[in-house]
Amino acid sequence: MLDTLAALPEFIDLAIVGAGPHALTLATHLLQKKKSMRGRFLVFDPSGTWMSRWDRQFAALEIPHLRSPAVHQPDPNPHALRTFAEDRPNDLFDPYDLPGTQLFRDFCQETIRRWQLADCVYPAQVIRVEPYKDRGHTRFCLHLSNGQSIIARRVVIANGGAVPNVPEWVGQISTSYPQERLLHSQQVDLRGSRLQGERVLIVGGGLTSGHLALGAVERGAQVLLMSRRNVYGKLFDADPGWIGPKYLKGFWAEPDLYVRWQTIQQARNGGSMTPAVLSQLRRLEREGKVVFYEQCGVSQAAWRDDGWQVHCDNSAVHECIHHQAINRIWVATGSQLDARNHPLLQDVLAAHPLEIVNGLPVVDEHLRWQGCELFIMGGLAALRVGPAARNLSGARAASDRIVPALTKASLSPR
Ligand SMILES: Cc1cc2nc3c(=O)[nH]c(=O)nc-3n(C[C@H](O)[C@H](O)[C@H](O)COP(=O)(O)OP(=O)(O)OC[C@H]3O[C@@H](n4cnc5c(N)ncnc54)[C@H](O)[C@@H]3O)c2cc1C
Repeated sequence: MLDTLAALPEFIDLAIVGAGPHALTLATHLLQKKKSMRGRFLVFDPSGTWMSRWDRQFAALEIPHLRSPAVHQPDPNPHALRTFAEDRPNDLFDPYDLPGTQLFRDFCQETIRRWQLADCVYPAQVIRVEPYKDRGHTRFCLHLSNGQSIIARRVVIANGGAVPNVPEWVGQISTSYPQERLLHSQQVDLRGSRLQGERVLIVGGGLTSGHLALGAVERGAQVLLMSRRNVYGKLFDADPGWIGPKYLKGFWAEPDLYVRWQTIQQARNGGSMTPAVLSQLRRLEREGKVVFYEQCGVSQAAWRDDGWQVHCDNSAVHECIHHQAINRIWVATGSQLDARNHPLLQDVLAAHPLEIVNGLPVVDEHLRWQGCELFIMGGLAALRVGPAARNLSGARAASDRIVPALTKASLSPR
């Protein structure tokens, strides 16, 4: 972490917003391509450290290993994680060598050390990115949460960018209730949860629901698992064909960006669980510790006395759960990405309007905003990078596009 007391420079060549795996991937790829970029960029994250949100999420959900294979990691050498794991074979999980959470964490720390990146992270949240014209060039004023500001020639937005997706019925709850009894999955921390003898309703059929359900049962709760569709098992969230040209060739050839958007939705196909997690849940179902309510959603919920009364919207498929006393509700309904609501993109959008397709901005092939040197990584870049944009493989694909534009003068916008 950088010392906050150390003066923040007035000007920086490149500002990277967010210090998650995407930013880390970009930083290593950038330094590999052009060593002289060292000292010319700063990374901003309120935590002041790399990978804080990633580490917190994995710890809070007690996720034992990644869903993606070892080849997907932040170092430019695709074999780096495997080599690092040579004397830790038990930390690679079947099938396809999925890195254990601690292994991945140690590897990222080693990557940060090897690329001497620890001191690049400035501990502040960026609250506004304000573009302005300076002698014909667009520059950016980054306003920070601590009241400071800095001018950047170029900016990369790598802050994850998604906001929790909260189902409509949550906003319609008319009774007051204790906040901790209804949480979005991003707010749940299994480590501090006491659930013995409780009944927890988990809404959503993705892997996050699966991890939460296993953690809740482990703590002595019974879980009702409700999902709109039938819960299904799938190794990866997007088919590996989306990482290479197999599917991406056709995707890039598609000129209609609305069709591309549809393709992205179909490829991700809502949430899915890994077969391993699903089979653990089915075993717990046989023991009565998990009850599946599939093809079903919540129609309304009310807090009565000391518990939830929940009505569902498809009692034709199974008995409605309104008679069951429910102690907690966790909604694991994912997150939403929309450039139009992204707090850091508002001024950029106003100064440099560009086409947006169902929330996704139409950036150029270097993931650069039209008319200025602002780049985006993560799910927001999916119209170019494809359905895996938000994943670790997407971080590499995005870096491969952004780094040339940051390092070659010939690729600067005219
Ligand atoms: C539980 C979970 C497990 C996952 N497992 C895998 C997996 O196994 N394999 C895979 O490929 N993908 C996985 N993903 C998907 C994806 O790789 C992760 O979501 C990953 O964290 C995305 O990286 P990121 O850098 O874009 O965002 P984040 O990890 O969210 O990092 C963004 C950082 O930006 C910071 N930030 C936010 N706003 C600001 C601001 N205004 N100013 C400054 N800093 C800011 C945050 O503090 C955060 O540290 C998983 C996702 C989740 C939620």
